[in-house]
Amino acid sequence: MFFAFSFGPFIGFWTAFGGAERLGALVISGGAMTTEQRIRTMSELGATVLLSTPTYALRLADVARSIGIDPARSKVRITIHAGEPGASIPATRAAIEAAYSAACFDHTGMTELGPTGHSCSQRDGIHAIESEFIFEVLDQDGRATDDGELVATNLGRWGMPLIRYRTGDRVVVSREPCSCGSSYMKLLGGIRGRVDDMFTVRGVNLFPSQVEDIVRRHPSVSEFVIERRRVRHMDEVALLVEIDGPETSTERLEADLRQALGVRLECRVVSAGTLPRAELKSKRIVRLEGDIQQG
Ligand SMILES: [Zn+2]
Repeated sequence: MFFAFSFGPFIGFWTAFGGAERLGALVISGGAMTTEQRIRTMSELGATVLLSTPTYALRLADVARSIGIDPARSKVRITIHAGEPGASIPATRAAIEAAYSAACFDHTGMTELGPTGHSCSQRDGIHAIESEFIFEVLDQDGRATDDGELVATNLGRWGMPLIRYRTGDRVVVSREPCSCGSSYMKLLGGIRGRVDDMFTVRGVNLFPSQVEDIVRRHPSVSEFVIERRRVRHMDEVALLVEIDGPETSTERLEADLRQALGVRLECRVVSAGTLPRAELKSKRIVRLEGDIQQG
């Protein structure tokens, strides 16, 4: 199992590393390596499982192809992702699975709470680990709902008890039985985004994950951010995209976004390499200084 992380103080990957060791897996650290070194190490040691953020998995695949290594022909058969919702976003998951010829799984957790959930063979969401937590889903007024903020009380964590901790994660839950046999409640579609990431375009409430699901169906888009500006109490939103290859028109992308989201979202092409890249959490919303106003 190859861990494509920097092994800094962020605890999540260390627990995954320790857990994998306990399973008896051969664990390989990707700490203190460049992206290219990670690709060569995975390839030379024949790693069969890759752990990374979903965005970084796509970037590893891009860089691999640019140095003549086809990740789809590597030994990787499973990819496991955390840190961002991408592995539960159908188009992002499909892009990762195509890039590696592998099955892609999502995993959720927080430094404060520990690991909270994992995807399963039915692949339509995340099972919340109810043996370790009491989970609630609450609306903004604190009433129980099926579509709202995930609130968790951890039961077994030594040294850091949290009672009704507000995760800030927006989820839609189901209690329907799952074909995988798990009885834990399911967060349909995984974590839908942060409750405070919602933005509004002409009265339509949107989350970055909905935009990502469309953008990832366009393989020529290598990176994107949603630029949000508050002008006279209105959200002005534009999608900034980096495009690989000769085709630089965003007409198809704009049409697909309009079709799926029901609103027109302006797309602007920016030069390759100008949008921020993150090894951990990609920041999908940029709020511009100036006209911005909280709310
Ligand atoms: Zn299941």
